[in-house]
Amino acid sequence: MKANKEFPETLIQAVRFFSDPDVALNFMASLRWPEGPICPECNSKEYSFLSTRRVWKCKGCQKQYTVKRGTIMEDSPIPLDKWLCAIWMIANDKNGISSYEIHRGLGITQKSAWFLLHRIRHAMKTGSFDKLSGQVEADETFIGGKSRNMHFRKRQKKITGTGGSGKAIVMGMLERDGEVRTAVIESRDGETLKAEIRENVEPGTELMTDAFVGYQGLSSEYVHQVINHAIEYVRGRIHTNGMENFWSLVKRALGGTYISVMPFHLFRYLDEQTFRFNYRKLNDRERFLLVCASMEGKRLSYDKLVGKTLMRAEA
Ligand SMILES: [Zn+2]
Repeated sequence: MKANKEFPETLIQAVRFFSDPDVALNFMASLRWPEGPICPECNSKEYSFLSTRRVWKCKGCQKQYTVKRGTIMEDSPIPLDKWLCAIWMIANDKNGISSYEIHRGLGITQKSAWFLLHRIRHAMKTGSFDKLSGQVEADETFIGGKSRNMHFRKRQKKITGTGGSGKAIVMGMLERDGEVRTAVIESRDGETLKAEIRENVEPGTELMTDAFVGYQGLSSEYVHQVINHAIEYVRGRIHTNGMENFWSLVKRALGGTYISVMPFHLFRYLDEQTFRFNYRKLNDRERFLLVCASMEGKRLSYDKLVGKTLMRAEA
């Protein structure tokens, strides 16, 4: 990296910084290979660098590799500077960025922008395996697109995927002063809700829920505190306001930015919102670096993303 250039702190600085292709390449290379390039085919550290094409050639197996290889950027013809600026925008915009904004802002097709967005969301999926503990709020909600604005046939398709209601059910668990976890669930029955809780929350934790029947039967495993919303919303520390605040953030972002979200893709939008929420105390630069550090080993093919037949022009 060029020593005379400060690493960016804002979007405009990021755009300027990464507009130099060598700076962008050096950034990616030093992030991926702090000890120097390694061949993804044979792990050899012997290479020559073809500077005109910005490609490495392995001296072991003679194969060529790029800095994008093995990351969410693999096989993408979109230049590094656009990728990095898109990551900056998506990691840091509080309300989410639509593929239309990426398409216009970066001058790529909307289809490319859509794919790029989803791949970045894939990198934003946080992979903590520790269970939540301390004081945990659990709550579920319905999330639906604006069906009334949709063409009838499209609306029918959407309804088929969500068990008739036209809305998806999302479960969330929030550790107070900690992280939130979300999951799109098939049903709102007790078995499903309790399975999510058991999978994500440490036994013995003080667990706050509303009085919904689906949460009954947890008191042998958790210190289960119930707030009955028919009577009150807060009783001392017993409430689910943290989780409800998170739902309103998600719904505002979905309603304001995305024209509609297919239930099939909803979990990726949730991952994006969850990421920003969980890392809200970091600054823009730190969030950007965190996404960049999560790019490796998360290649997502177009076929896998669209489920082959599910390709739709979606915001
Ligand atoms: Zn090699």
